[in-house]
Amino acid sequence: MQSLVGRETTFAEGIDVLVDLRKDLFSQISYIADAFPKEAFYHMPFAGADGYHSKTLVYSMWHIFRIEDIVTHTLISGDEQVLFSGGWQEKTGSPIITTGNELKGEEIAEFSKKLDVEAVFHYCEAVMESTNEMLRSLTYTDLKRCFSEEDKNRVKDSHCVSTDKDAVWLVDYWCEKDIRGLIKMPFSRHWIMHIEAMCRIKDRLCQKARKGTDPIARCGLSCNHCFLKEWCGGCRTAYNTCSDAMNQPGKVCPNTSCCMEKHIDGSYECDQIIDCRKGFYGYDDVNAVKAMALFTRKYGKKELLKVMDQLHREHDFEKIQEVLGNDLEEGLRILEKNYRKVAVLKV
Ligand code: SF4
Ligand code: SF4
Repeated sequence: MQSLVGRETTFAEGIDVLVDLRKDLFSQISYIADAFPKEAFYHMPFAGADGYHSKTLVYSMWHIFRIEDIVTHTLISGDEQVLFSGGWQEKTGSPIITTGNELKGEEIAEFSKKLDVEAVFHYCEAVMESTNEMLRSLTYTDLKRCFSEEDKNRVKDSHCVSTDKDAVWLVDYWCEKDIRGLIKMPFSRHWIMHIEAMCRIKDRLCQKARKGTDPIARCGLSCNHCFLKEWCGGCRTAYNTCSDAMNQPGKVCPNTSCCMEKHIDGSYECDQIIDCRKGFYGYDDVNAVKAMALFTRKYGKKELLKVMDQLHREHDFEKIQEVLGNDLEEGLRILEKNYRKVAVLKV
């Protein structure tokens, strides 16, 4: 993107790549905003750490897009920020109009609790769209545009950057760059750093949510051995963020909601399991999940976990169907064979 933007002949193509990159990155924010429970947005699983991951999810969203709004509108275009033109301070419930750099430790969590996450998400969307419009209106010659004392004073006078030592440096930092420099920071690299941090935060929250909960998913899979375990909190927690759950209107996977309706612990307790095609059982190539559920029905959850450990010791695989195949009986037979191995090893 940077090299395309840097050449006159490929400048327009570079801006297209930048806008696409932003779209891709934003899809991570959309996923998080859509999938995670309210409390996830104000928890600080890495509090005190040195890095962007020490913040909260919603603080990160606010911070990325406040900076972008200030730079796009007050600094570059000299017009009204989206925060004010869209009445977003009121909608989001934010007690501040600044970038949040001045907030420390617990203040970040307290600030995060006050925000309406959905409204913050829509504010982020509105800022992204407005910046994309500004980026598309740029010409190659704009890249070398620098900023004057007057531009700097306009940013200062907006009071959108705190005078706290951890925030005030931003004004000089932005104003010493030309437009090309701002394309890197804050319009792309700043996103990448904070969104990567958001992914670390949400993954840690999922892992913490799963701790101490039953590791056998309602469909029969073992969360401890699942290839999605880094970013799914499990179907027995509020962090049920696997793709099957995410595609459902209530964000609960069909096997989970069906088990809950039937008041059973998992599909392994259901007498319709053999013919069931719901959720994970509806995919043509994952009878292996059902085989695990049948194994649990016969031998119990603890034994399934032991067999899964054994399979992972012997094979290098991600998805269980890579080892159990797609034939239900054969899958169950492989599990039982490995169960016997575990029993022999124990003796
Ligand atoms: S996808 Fe299912 S098995 Fe995997 S971690 Fe999530 S709930 Fe557990
Ligand atoms: S009907 Fe299917 S999804 Fe529902 S509990 Fe039974 S096996 Fe599970």
